[in-house]
Amino acid sequence: VGGGPGGLTCAALLAKWGLKTLLLEKNETTGGKAITPTNKDGFSYELGPKLQVPAQGPGFAQAFRELGIESELKPLPLTTAGLAYRGPSGKYKLGALPATTGLEPQPLFDLWDLAPKDTEPALKLMIDMAMMPPEQLNALDEMTTAEWLAGMDNVPWGLYSYMAMHANASLAEPIDLVSASEQVRIMQDIALRGAAGYYVGGFGRVLNDLAKAIKANGGDIRTRTRVDRIRVENGRVTAVVTGDDVFKAPIVVSDAGLQPTVLKLVGEDEFDSGYLNYVKGLVPGWSFTGVKYFLKKKVLEYPMYNIWSDDTWLTLERFRKQRTGKVEDEVMMFATVPSNFDPSMAPAGKQCIVAGTICSPDPSAKEIKTLWDKMDQMWDKLYPGVMDALMYKEVEGPAEVSEFTRDHVLPGQGGECVGLAQIVGQCGKYQPSPKAPILGLYYVGADVGPPGMGTHKASSAGINVARMVLRQYQMQQALV
Ligand SMILES: Cc1cc2nc3c(=O)[nH]c(=O)nc-3n(C[C@H](O)[C@H](O)[C@H](O)COP(=O)(O)OP(=O)(O)OC[C@H]3O[C@@H](n4cnc5c(N)ncnc54)[C@H](O)[C@@H]3O)c2cc1C
Repeated sequence: VGGGPGGLTCAALLAKWGLKTLLLEKNETTGGKAITPTNKDGFSYELGPKLQVPAQGPGFAQAFRELGIESELKPLPLTTAGLAYRGPSGKYKLGALPATTGLEPQPLFDLWDLAPKDTEPALKLMIDMAMMPPEQLNALDEMTTAEWLAGMDNVPWGLYSYMAMHANASLAEPIDLVSASEQVRIMQDIALRGAAGYYVGGFGRVLNDLAKAIKANGGDIRTRTRVDRIRVENGRVTAVVTGDDVFKAPIVVSDAGLQPTVLKLVGEDEFDSGYLNYVKGLVPGWSFTGVKYFLKKKVLEYPMYNIWSDDTWLTLERFRKQRTGKVEDEVMMFATVPSNFDPSMAPAGKQCIVAGTICSPDPSAKEIKTLWDKMDQMWDKLYPGVMDALMYKEVEGPAEVSEFTRDHVLPGQGGECVGLAQIVGQCGKYQPSPKAPILGLYYVGADVGPPGMGTHKASSAGINVARMVLRQYQMQQALV
């Protein structure tokens, strides 16, 4: 149920392994939050700014290898990132950093105006993060990044501010809620596994290849087919129900989101109150609202940009303030320029910038439009050529993300950027299980994936769940 990165990966592997596989997707195309549309003018772009972390060995690479189509993946490494940071000096400093910065941090130190005495502690902390062994990482499941850093003697401010921006940009969480184990693992991916990357044709092209693999291996895909109900009889799944059909199935894997699957597709009556309370108590991740700027000429030089200052990354307190409509003058931004990775993604001589900033996942959030205006102002202030070359723009916020992907079933939920929040209590050993307490029902996608950034988490979950389903299927076959 649902063809996002998690559902597609899972279905492709199951089809390859010989299971009779049907994927039902409510939208016109599969791809979920990671589609790459092409508009009437020939621009191809992502729903919001999107990069692959880790660049080396993401879930997609493992799945493509397993499917025997590894040469089709066509990854494109990030070479240089454009950064803009306003620190204690009060002025924005613009920088261009090679993607090897994880290994050679001096350009970052220059951007932060790091005092010579702070260089060594910053370097030590960055190396400690990069080299942290798994058992030490697991212990960080229990604390937020802010709590972890507070326990240290000397954390240089530039590095703290970078980590806080990073929690927003990579995990769509605040530094005072995000699980330190999740964040440090992503820092390791960036430092040791190729920084970040993209794909020829974008994420959507990768996902189309997975859809092709489903069909090539005998599976079926029906788009524009919303699943209204997952039918359960005597504690086990028996079918999925759409507007027109009932599809009998002994195993159902849902990529529709854990909370929508339990509360809407299966229904509360099928679960005990303890599990229902657990599901209702899970916290959705925050959202990222995006603006696509379609430019009549090339303006930005690099494929990726991070723009932040010490007062633009959201903490829980700043988030609460933003929710009351008090939006600060400036916002943090993460942006990608798809055609600076793959020139075929924009008409010759033109450029599309996909920019975003962190926000509430609440589809009815009122402050989103103000954030779009603030993003325009940030470009004007820091990279004025962008607004000068603007032909038109497209926007989307949590309402559009929810409409396009997961249903709104709880207050403030629906427009999550990644999935369930990667916060203390929901990560590492507290990660929600992909196996529902109903025989034959599994969840897939970012909600139940191992640590990592969105698409990596979702596609890795697809691989894990496919293995679980295969085992259940083989056991059932052995008993017949
Ligand atoms: C603005 C933005 C920026 C992001 N940036 C990054 C990034 O830089 N790097 C990164 O790795 N990730 C990023 N992500 C996150 C990433 O896109 C998601 O984590 C990932 O797509 C989640 O995959 P999924 O399979 O869990 O579900 P989704 O992508 O949400 O897909 C779920 C699918 O299920 C379908 N569906 C739902 N309900 C039904 C139903 N009842 N019947 C049929 N079909 C149904 C939906 O239509 C959808 O196609 C970003 C996301 C956003 C929104």
